[in-house]
Amino acid sequence: MNILVADDEVSIRELVGEILEGDGYNITLAEDGEDALEKFNLSWHEIVFSDIRMPKMNGIELLTAVKEINENTQFVIMTSHASIENSVDALKKGAFDYIIKPFEDLDIISDVAARAIANLSGIRRQQYLLSTLTRQNQELDHLNKEFREMAIRDGLTGLHNHRYAKERLNSEFDRSARFDRDLAVLFMDLDHFKFYNDAHGHQAGDDILQTLAALMTKNVRESDTLARWGGEEFVVIAPETGPADACKLAERIRKAVEAHDFPNAAKQPLGRVSLSIGIAARSSATESAEKLLRFADDATYAAKDSGRNRCVYCIGPEKMKAI
Ligand code: GH3
Ligand code: MG
Ligand code: MG
Repeated sequence: MNILVADDEVSIRELVGEILEGDGYNITLAEDGEDALEKFNLSWHEIVFSDIRMPKMNGIELLTAVKEINENTQFVIMTSHASIENSVDALKKGAFDYIIKPFEDLDIISDVAARAIANLSGIRRQQYLLSTLTRQNQELDHLNKEFREMAIRDGLTGLHNHRYAKERLNSEFDRSARFDRDLAVLFMDLDHFKFYNDAHGHQAGDDILQTLAALMTKNVRESDTLARWGGEEFVVIAPETGPADACKLAERIRKAVEAHDFPNAAKQPLGRVSLSIGIAARSSATESAEKLLRFADDATYAAKDSGRNRCVYCIGPEKMKAI
């Protein structure tokens, strides 16, 4: 522990210095405020004992300068009865305590130093606790974000999951109905995936699903919601997208998958890995989000029935159009 003792009266600073040195502290002596500030700047001092009236720089100015450099420094004012008002001012400015000169009892010097040290360790403990708490809070925030993200993602593909897609579908449907905006849904099902799994194993099947997810992600817009609906089924919820654009989007995805060089694709029944895609767009006659999704699903079945690896648009109940 280092203590700086500043007093322009040599007998006082030497007396205080000796007592504190006797208590085991490292002592630096300064003959005025300026000298003290210089020495304070040169090396770390936990406590400053300072006279108030000193030439060049007084105790209050020294206090202000020291607190600016290190607000934890414990500042003890040594004052005569004459300048007791200044001591009150010093306490308001952050001094730890004051002692009155001439000293009636020398023990008071050791006492105030010991209390200042205790105060300092209390402050440090508080700061440590505060920083630990802040760090733990940040970690918790981070974990919360991760959990929230995990709750809406599919583990295998990293795409949004079924639950999230359903929520989005409902909210986008409400929005598009309320403001009479376009909304399209694509329902995509991998062709002959059971065949692929049976021939090359479940792991190889998983790899296909992951590659597919990446291919699809590249072909949708930021504002679209792409999700794994379940198994080998995927959906795209595309706001502000009318029938023509939805069909273009579906064809773009279908072609990207068809053109991709998947392992063992040639051994598939169709000679390639492919998707059947059903498309539906909201119209004023579409009663609900479920209905819109049902139309897209029906269109997917129609795409399967008419040979797979194709896109079918559902115009309305039972009314399909090949793309
Ligand atoms: P279709 O062309 O008519 O769609 O035929 P399909 O074989 O793709 O359809 P089916 O519904 O008969 O089989 C789907 C297969 O998808 C069966 C199931 O094992 C597989 N599957 C579902 N989820 C996963 C998965 O997470 N990983 C793997 N590897 N396979 C999955
Ligand atoms: Mg399926
Ligand atoms: Mg399938």
